[in-house]
Amino acid sequence: LAALAPVARGVASSSPVGAGASTQAREALRRRNLAIISHPDAGKTTLTEKLLLYGGAINQAGAVKAKGEQRRATSDFMELEQQRGISISSTVLAYEYQGYKTLILDTPGHQDFSEDTYRTLAAADNAVMLIDGAKGLEPQTRKLFEVARLRRLPIFTFVNKLDRPSLSPLQICDQIEAEFGIRCCPVLWPIGSGDRFKGVLDRRTSVVHLFARGARGAIAETVAELPLNSAELREMLNDDELHAQLLEDAEILDELAPPLDLAAIASGDITPVFFGSAMSNFGVQLFLNAFMQLGLPPAARAVEDGGAGAAADFENGAIEAGTRVVQPTHAEFSGFVFKLQANLDPRHRDRMAFVRVCSGTFEPGLRVKHSRLKGKELTLSQVQSISGNERTTLDEACYPGDVIGINNPAGTFAIGDTIYTGSERISYSKIPSFSPEVFALCTNPSPSKYKQFAKGLEQLLDEGAVQRLRERGDMDGGAGAAPILAAVGPLQFEVVQSRLQSEYGVDVTLERLPFAAARWALAGWGAVEQATADGKLLGVRKLEDTWGRPVLLFPSEWKLNSVLADCTTLLQLRPYAVA
Ligand code: GDP
Repeated sequence: LAALAPVARGVASSSPVGAGASTQAREALRRRNLAIISHPDAGKTTLTEKLLLYGGAINQAGAVKAKGEQRRATSDFMELEQQRGISISSTVLAYEYQGYKTLILDTPGHQDFSEDTYRTLAAADNAVMLIDGAKGLEPQTRKLFEVARLRRLPIFTFVNKLDRPSLSPLQICDQIEAEFGIRCCPVLWPIGSGDRFKGVLDRRTSVVHLFARGARGAIAETVAELPLNSAELREMLNDDELHAQLLEDAEILDELAPPLDLAAIASGDITPVFFGSAMSNFGVQLFLNAFMQLGLPPAARAVEDGGAGAAADFENGAIEAGTRVVQPTHAEFSGFVFKLQANLDPRHRDRMAFVRVCSGTFEPGLRVKHSRLKGKELTLSQVQSISGNERTTLDEACYPGDVIGINNPAGTFAIGDTIYTGSERISYSKIPSFSPEVFALCTNPSPSKYKQFAKGLEQLLDEGAVQRLRERGDMDGGAGAAPILAAVGPLQFEVVQSRLQSEYGVDVTLERLPFAAARWALAGWGAVEQATADGKLLGVRKLEDTWGRPVLLFPSEWKLNSVLADCTTLLQLRPYAVA
């Protein structure tokens, strides 16, 4: 552990990257972006706010929430969010800290929006798993951990709320290792919890940081930084039991914990673990500093080779040897769309595509090619830099790791689209969808509002909020028949309903359909017809997706399993299909 510390600290000198490298390489290397994954209520908002506070991006705690409320007040969509106390829309927060440019990609915590989180994680280079110290792992922590794993992201763990009585830190590490099969390397180790939470040991330096409780919102005061083995520490702690426990823990960890190896973090074999309290500011700054040193700068990304390779990459959670990748140092610009959102600001009807820059340099006015549209050229002049709810016209160059907002009025961009410059076509591996689990018939009871209905629905479908399925051959987009919507969770339906109402003035009714699961039959309609003729698909509804591919809806898991057992080879059933 100690061996790495000098190297890591060396990197954090005022300029993170040496002179001599190209501007692009230097800028890419000083980018650190992260997405926080957690179960609702673990303290994500609080931690985000504190990271901004310590990063100097805001100068008073409470600013993030205040902004959130301002925004909520301007839109009914946000009103839904407020009523439910959940976070629906992901945003990006960017700031400069210690010579690094940090981007926090915000992810919704509620499980019905896992898909949004999934896409955001596709744009992130690091994940921070936030755990409530009293609760340990919770359902959504588990689900999102798996997603981060699938994305092969380095995972940092912050165990929060140590100012409350907590599970023992060893117990938490055990739980993570046993359930996730990732080894824990504690970096900050807590001294006590609840009222007896006194501070943390930084295992890289063997220095103990003792804190004083500050007033809420104030930056916590470090009372003392003392060597672990000093007599002063024992004196200042003034709690022999805690002191003995600390020495014992330190010894156990030195023996059992794996070394803090950067390569092992990058490959997801170990997770650096931090303990603290976001609300009382304990350990937040130490975490932030460590993250600058240990977090991964923008990494190489897999591109499609036109074959099955890219999709396989996501399913196995591995970039196979021989997969083509684009390095962030590649001289030509490339990036991909990971999120679309309409009407971010209801005063200006807008549609925005969020693009993660992966290589090269982006400058306003850049002429790029659109990979899905067969290299069609576009000039990107109206580009926004995004941080929080503020969007300003981009007037500076952007580098790998950055996120830019491109106006998307004509719906030119879809989720997963790649844009690039240069003669070599680049197409990043697609972001697969979660398999839908809830289905509803969406009817617009007022024919006079058909236009608004069609337009609103089209935009929300573009955003990937829900998917539309229809009867086979009904290509008019549902002008006659009501479309069937498919989503991962019912809250997604509520958002669609609420946004159609507030943004497009259409009151739709959604009638839930009694299906429990969907599978794409990649073998095509011929195979579906054959299975039908064989009597294998009784009670299974056959629809098609936007691309005309057969989608089967199953009334129960039981029926699904029986079809899977009988017709897997024939139908080639998959839980989702990549666009
Ligand atoms: P989110 O749902 O994950 O964004 O969680 P919030 O940041 O909104 O926090 C949920 C609740 O936990 C709020 O009441 C916070 O004040 C509280 N909270 C957050 N961090 C801490 C902490 O370190 N200690 C304690 N005691 N409470 C915290």
